[in-house]
Amino acid sequence: MHPFTLLFLAALAAHLAVQVWLARRQIMFVEANSGAVPRGFEAAVSLAEHAKAAAYTVARQRFGMLEAVVDVLILLWLTLGGGIARIGAVAAALSDSPLLTGTLHVLAVFAALAILSLPFSVYRTFALEQHFGFNRTRPAVFVADQLKAWALGLLLGGAMVACVLWIMASAGSSWWLVGWAVWLAFTLLITWAWPRIFAPLFNKFSPLEDQALRQRIDALLERCDFHAKSIFVMDGSRRSSHGNAYFTGLGREKRIVFFDTLLSSLTPAQIESVLAHELAHFRLRHVPQRLVVGALMSLAGFALLGWLAQQLWFYAALGVPSGSSAAALVLFILVTPVFSWVVSPLLAAWSRRHEYQADAFAAEHSDAQSLAEALVKLYKDNASTLTPDPVYSAFHDSHPPPAARIERLTAAAAQ
Ligand SMILES: [Zn+2]
Repeated sequence: MHPFTLLFLAALAAHLAVQVWLARRQIMFVEANSGAVPRGFEAAVSLAEHAKAAAYTVARQRFGMLEAVVDVLILLWLTLGGGIARIGAVAAALSDSPLLTGTLHVLAVFAALAILSLPFSVYRTFALEQHFGFNRTRPAVFVADQLKAWALGLLLGGAMVACVLWIMASAGSSWWLVGWAVWLAFTLLITWAWPRIFAPLFNKFSPLEDQALRQRIDALLERCDFHAKSIFVMDGSRRSSHGNAYFTGLGREKRIVFFDTLLSSLTPAQIESVLAHELAHFRLRHVPQRLVVGALMSLAGFALLGWLAQQLWFYAALGVPSGSSAAALVLFILVTPVFSWVVSPLLAAWSRRHEYQADAFAAEHSDAQSLAEALVKLYKDNASTLTPDPVYSAFHDSHPPPAARIERLTAAAAQ
């Protein structure tokens, strides 16, 4: 067996073991703390609501463990089991053009992954979310969503894959630099086009009608010297009762989007404070920082792919007897996460730092007490656990534990 095969198997086993270990820790910690509402939340969260959040968290963790195991089996089948090689042989028989067969090869592998993950999506939506009363997706909407997502994946993914394969074949040994630049331009274009072209395929966006709320928001934007083109309400309630708010777009084209579910559950003062938090991510330059880090990581990725694509052992060790640009691309996309998960706790810690900073910004420019109330309301409505396992949370969570956020906001409100 090739040493890289052993390394791959060891990394895969380590990743699965860590995922299962963390999920089990989370389950045990949440269950152990499900009998009493944590201090500070007693006024807003009932014991029944707290117990529901625990049951929901445990159910999602159990399902996540099953999904992780199946993901490993699928990856093993695609690589060492010869799945990628077999799909490549079928694609090669369909055409004489290397660009066309290569693109078909990559798309067929991802189509297989999409089909294999479909039962999990169905179960998550119609069993898990349904059981806890969150699902509002009708089967017809679900089917339409899947078809639209696949069509977009085929169109955008197909264009990007064909483009990268063409660059690999024609731009010489430093193709990866050209490929990275094109990838970056493509990503920025999609980010810009998403709110105006693609998001409306899935949801209805209508301008915020509530004039009193609109004035409140305009005053906040003014105070923070922030310019957003428009404020929209999205019909999130069509699919789920989970609530959210976000900014989207780039440069002068920024939009604020509220889920209708959020607007119906929070007071105007709470909505303003949530918006102040989201706005902070732009004012404190978290968004461009993330873009730059993402761009640098993809540069490193392209450089590594440029090198790996030339190593015969890379293909042979991962179950693909004869190398090709398409096989290199597929293997790289599927196998990198088996190793790169080790940096995810760093990214999560960085994200939690940004969340604290955004909370502090909101406390300063809006109202700390309102934000604390809004967060508690959202934790309750979304059945988020108030008592995550500290190790699980440090590893996975992009947001700080509820108690820590509320404590800081309460301290800010008391000042
Ligand atoms: Zn945030």
